[in-house]
Amino acid sequence: MFIVGNWKMNQNLDSIESFFTNLSLKDSTCETWVSPQSLHVSTVIAKSSQAGKPFFVGGQNISEQDNGAFTGENSAESLQDLGAIFTLVGHSERRSLYKENHELLNKKTKQALSKNLTVIFCVGEQLEERKNGMTEAVLKNQLTEGLKDYPTDQLSQSRLIIAYEPVWAIGTGEVATTEQAQDAHHFIRKILMDDLGLQGDLTPILYGGSVKPSNAEGLLSQKDIDGALVGGASLKGEDFSQLAQIASKLMK
Ligand code: PEP
Repeated sequence: MFIVGNWKMNQNLDSIESFFTNLSLKDSTCETWVSPQSLHVSTVIAKSSQAGKPFFVGGQNISEQDNGAFTGENSAESLQDLGAIFTLVGHSERRSLYKENHELLNKKTKQALSKNLTVIFCVGEQLEERKNGMTEAVLKNQLTEGLKDYPTDQLSQSRLIIAYEPVWAIGTGEVATTEQAQDAHHFIRKILMDDLGLQGDLTPILYGGSVKPSNAEGLLSQKDIDGALVGGASLKGEDFSQLAQIASKLMK
């Protein structure tokens, strides 16, 4: 069970300090990960020893390139050098605001794996697509194109996590019903196995989209939901701690 915070372009040194002051994970047994802005990765790693349990840090995006004349980009290697263990790839904000397409996301995924980072590959449909009954087609396309030729060796497979984030639920306060989320997760598992030849049954699939302490239990108790990718509610140490407690309780 995972609680992964996506801080997006939020937090500053003061709010990171207060996040850790208010974080209390001593009774939680779930995985606790966070992706701050790249500029804050070292600071968060240095503070993570205050968490009282393993607390892992990752990026929100990486370049598909190794290194070179790519002004403004961050390499997977630099992220890994700092001590990050994972990166998000294909978050809906990257897809929509920065026009990242399947081909680019496929390159980024392979680049991250080649630098020993775990990839949290994000997929999810827009509201119109759901209304038009296209959810499964969209998810299938995002997975089969974005993860095309994904290496099937054991190590690479254990470095893959999927996040199902319906775009209409991200940052809107509108959360998918437990049934909508479970159905999508079950479908994703099937695509990983049947279309991509991956160990879908062993791949963690996280739900993301307006998760908060008040709605987490219903979602996290679904059979195919292995954790949450959390934006807004991951910014405060108190909320993050509560989410980790809920997830840990469900593991028992
Ligand atoms: C996200 O950005 O990945 C996310 C799920 O955001 P929020 O929890 O704020 O909806």
